Amino acid sequence: VTNKTILSVEGLKVSYGHIEAVKGIDFALQEGRITTLVGANGAGKSTTLLALSGLVKKAAGRIVFDGQDIGSLAPHRIVGGGLVQVAEGRATLTTLTVHENLELGAYTRRNRAERAQDLDYVYGLFPRLAERRAGLAGNLSGGEQQMLAIGRALMARPRVLLLDEPSMGLAPIIVQDIFRTLRTINQGGLTIFLVEQNVRQALKIADRGYVIETGKIVLADSGAALLGNPKVQDAYLGG
Ligand code: ATP
Repeated sequence: VTNKTILSVEGLKVSYGHIEAVKGIDFALQEGRITTLVGANGAGKSTTLLALSGLVKKAAGRIVFDGQDIGSLAPHRIVGGGLVQVAEGRATLTTLTVHENLELGAYTRRNRAERAQDLDYVYGLFPRLAERRAGLAGNLSGGEQQMLAIGRALMARPRVLLLDEPSMGLAPIIVQDIFRTLRTINQGGLTIFLVEQNVRQALKIADRGYVIETGKIVLADSGAALLGNPKVQDAYLGG
């Protein structure tokens, strides 16, 4: 783990018509670490991620990825550069098999040996997917579909993995399982940016966290310090 900033966001603003959803936020991701952005429903988390991926237009600010301003690049160029967002859990291709979904994640990559190696890595991370590789994605449980969505993103060999609420709609035990795997993936060296409403679980695995409220970052600290912060406890952890 280095102290290199791989992605920095400065003064980011995003509006939908008259609604200013993100009101000038700053944050940074350190290479090899897990950073989380936590907050309530509607605080601006998803909008922030959409702006990073180039899927909504920003009204102001800079997004610098590995030294390059990516703020006006097309989404496919951003993905090509290694900033890869996990599709929402239910967005797996339900009429394809687990294996086909994973292969699609690597469709831009030519090197067969590397693809095979990455498939082994993903099946190793998620043995459940290996067992069900020939089954249709549509027959997987919610948790398994989330695993598949993460696996598919990994098949693109990201440099930074972006996740929008992977815990959504899943039972607590499944959430723990998925978050434990995120930590394993991170220990392999991958930088992770996790956007979550499940504040407790997200801060538990994060090296650094930011709290967003109505489009503004109100707190920034280590994950552990935020977990112990009385303001965070009162507002998000049930006191
Ligand atoms: P959630 O967990 O519900 O996704 P969030 O923190 O990700 O919440 P955003 O989805 O980023 O929040 O929404 C931020 C604000 O922008 C909210 O007030 C929301 O109503 C508004 N908003 C989001 N998407 C749109 C849109 N397409 N058009 C208009 N307003 C939107």
